[in-house]
Amino acid sequence: MKPKLRAGILGATGAVGQKFIELLANHPWIEITAVAASQRSAGKKYGDVTNWLSGTPIPLSIANLEVQDCIPNLDCDFVFSGLDASVAGEIETSFAQAGYPVISNSRNHRFSPNVPLLIPEVNPDHLSLMKEQKFGKGFIVTNPNCSTTGLVIALKPLHDQWGLEQVNVVTMQALSGAGYPGVASLDILDNVIPYIGSEEQKMESETVKILGKIENKAFKNASIKISAQCNRVAVMNGHLECVNIKLKTKAKLDAIIQVWQNYQAEPQQLKLPSAPNPLIYYFTNEKYPQPRLHRDLGNGMAVSIGRLRECPLFDYKFVVLSHNTVRGAAGGAILNAEILIAKGLLTTR
Ligand code: NAP
Repeated sequence: MKPKLRAGILGATGAVGQKFIELLANHPWIEITAVAASQRSAGKKYGDVTNWLSGTPIPLSIANLEVQDCIPNLDCDFVFSGLDASVAGEIETSFAQAGYPVISNSRNHRFSPNVPLLIPEVNPDHLSLMKEQKFGKGFIVTNPNCSTTGLVIALKPLHDQWGLEQVNVVTMQALSGAGYPGVASLDILDNVIPYIGSEEQKMESETVKILGKIENKAFKNASIKISAQCNRVAVMNGHLECVNIKLKTKAKLDAIIQVWQNYQAEPQQLKLPSAPNPLIYYFTNEKYPQPRLHRDLGNGMAVSIGRLRECPLFDYKFVVLSHNTVRGAAGGAILNAEILIAKGLLTTR
């Protein structure tokens, strides 16, 4: 058995940082050796300073670690970042410049030159541009916004088979997507908030980058017209999205369902530890998928789809659900690390 790679967690005390710690407990390839956060937390024991949100206890080995400053002298082979976007850009760059591979959740570097915006089941070929980054031994890989992730996994098999021309998506997004303490209870109880800052632009720009190609050593966006409307709803975890699509070539309804159900990608073929199999669940029950019932399928890494039907405006419409803090954040980043390890791109420092 190979020794485990040693990971540091930047932003370890936050909602996403905590999810990394929860998901990496007992990981077969990765162990956490450093936790870092702001100066408010640095110098204190992780267990004393963290408002732990999960029902499962903090792993003892992590609870006793001292939280460190986010400066690139951590004892680890690479870092995961769940940093607040106000500071993530600069801190992640400083780590990459110091030779650390950085696997980030934050938005700051998603459109930086040669930085892959990676979903391993969708665009693993985008990793080839990583070697063009100017960080020496270090590099940055990002994962998309939580609402983009579920959408793109549902769209990818259809785009491969028939080509997508237009996409319209309306989201109902969980509260945990806003971090902790997030939206005030008096704002969201008995209510829906029809606005999430920058979310619609992120969904529109990220989707076409991820579904795009590499041409002349640069990312080239897919030529898909996409419009997004994003809403915050009183659900704890799991983003539900209503999607309308127009395809370039005609497709039969049954064929679309088959393509979803049979979709296999590199993480499944490589049997990566966090890769769900199946990746996509299609439900025939017209009341499914639902956040409370289906968000944890595949340990929160699978995507659930239902209600595929013809659309009078576009070709088809359907509903998609994915877990925002697992597949859409920490779990997605861990799968990014796993594919990098499997391809020999992430090793001991
Ligand atoms: P959060 O709960 O507010 O956590 C933010 C983390 O950043 C904390 O560990 C905090 O440390 C640290 N931090 C804040 N200011 C800092 C500074 N000046 N220097 C060093 N560390 C600092 O936020 P979150 O929900 O976990 O989100 C983290 C990132 O992931 C964000 O960029 C967010 O957009 C992205 N994201 C979140 C989700 C989701 O579903 N929640 C999904 C996808 C992506 P202290 O505790 O010491 O203040």
